[in-house]
Amino acid sequence: MRLSRYFLPVLKETPAEAQIVSHRLMLRAGMIKQASAGIYSWLPLGYKVLRNIERIVHEEQVRAGHIPMLMPTLQSADLWRESGRYDDYGEEMLRISDRHGRDMLYGPTNEELVTDIFRAHVASYKDLPLTLYHIQWKFRDEIRPRFGVMRGREFLMKDGYNFDLTKDAALHAYNRHLVSYLRTYERMGLQAIPMRADSGPIGGDYTHEFLVLAETGESEVFYDSAVTDLTFGDREIDYDSVAQCQSILEEFTSRYARTDETHDEALYAQIPEERRRSARGIEVGQIFYFGTTYSEPLGALVDDGQGGRVPVHMGSHGIGVSRLLGAIIEASHDDKGIIWPEGVTPFHCGIVNLRQGDAGTDSACAALEAALTARGLEPLYDDTEERAGAKFATMDLIGLPWRITVGPRGVEKGQVELTSRRTGESEEMSPEAAVARVGEIYGV
Ligand code: ATP
Ligand code: MG
Repeated sequence: MRLSRYFLPVLKETPAEAQIVSHRLMLRAGMIKQASAGIYSWLPLGYKVLRNIERIVHEEQVRAGHIPMLMPTLQSADLWRESGRYDDYGEEMLRISDRHGRDMLYGPTNEELVTDIFRAHVASYKDLPLTLYHIQWKFRDEIRPRFGVMRGREFLMKDGYNFDLTKDAALHAYNRHLVSYLRTYERMGLQAIPMRADSGPIGGDYTHEFLVLAETGESEVFYDSAVTDLTFGDREIDYDSVAQCQSILEEFTSRYARTDETHDEALYAQIPEERRRSARGIEVGQIFYFGTTYSEPLGALVDDGQGGRVPVHMGSHGIGVSRLLGAIIEASHDDKGIIWPEGVTPFHCGIVNLRQGDAGTDSACAALEAALTARGLEPLYDDTEERAGAKFATMDLIGLPWRITVGPRGVEKGQVELTSRRTGESEEMSPEAAVARVGEIYGV
């Protein structure tokens, strides 16, 4: 992509309305524009990162054996009356009526809708286990939308629902989600720590929230610092293996790590003092097992193979897809701007032409762009007439992890400069070597 043809409305000024760094940087980097309180347009750069995050979520869900689908944003109130949640949900639910005066709502979550699909089509234990998920916009009329995409009213969520014959089978689905989430967040360059959380009105002991540690996080958390040493890496997982998923869950959840709702001072005091931490975190996901809470009232029953008909055991599992952009930036930035992890970066690298209009640098940049593209990489080539300093500032602000700088002196020597956004270190090399290096970094 050539910057001169792209739409990247970067802001020079720091927007006054933004209280936290990720919100400021998303506005300054031209990623989002507020449409109304807590509702955003995703400008091209932000949209690209959003799609990358979505792609990783999809890949990891499919890898775990979960099945993608798409349910609508608008739902009929009838199903929510059946489950008993229509009145309980309160003012966070956006209620709408259609031209016939029928009560509708913009879905804040999808337990009812997915259970309705299940009950219409599944009648036997032979069709289980089943996990369906989608990535769809949600609406919650938050009392205080703030921090940009972190607490929006309209936001993108991955929500998945497992259906199992027994509690044990549903707990395996729970563990499978935990494992797939660990992998998902790590691919985005994030450490998200599973913490014992409060299941709220749903009840039951089985829920974990995934938290990214950040000063600006809205949750108060308490943990044993040993949990921050755990990494998932690229282990081979057999998602059908009950024992393997269980052992990973134990590895990642046996140390103390809780949100304030479930915090237990006595247990916390048992952690060696030098490892006790209290901090703030951003909730980027949550998994739940809730048994037959929805399948009973909605009549989602299956033939159990022994002559009976039983309500299925369910759980629901969410990832805050749009919130993740904010969380990643909170965890990865400096005073010049964003530093995208390679897994989610909107462009693989930038190309900066230090003397636009110079035949030598222009053709060297065009050749680099072509070579990177041929390798399957997507560069952003700053071919504008801006000064070098302004070009560097824009590249630093939008946070591409690698930059190739092409200047007239280098071109004479057959050299370009490859710079890491994270470390600031630069190295001179031939254009071919730079393309090869960037290719290796991205594994292409
Ligand atoms: P919170 O406690 O932050 O209000 P929640 O526990 O109500 O979130 P869930 O129902 O668990 O949210 O939704 C799954 C995920 O969706 C959350 O872990 C979070 O990452 C994301 N999410 C929830 N509410 C919002 C919001 N208003 N804006 C952006 N993302 C959100
Ligand atoms: Mg939650």
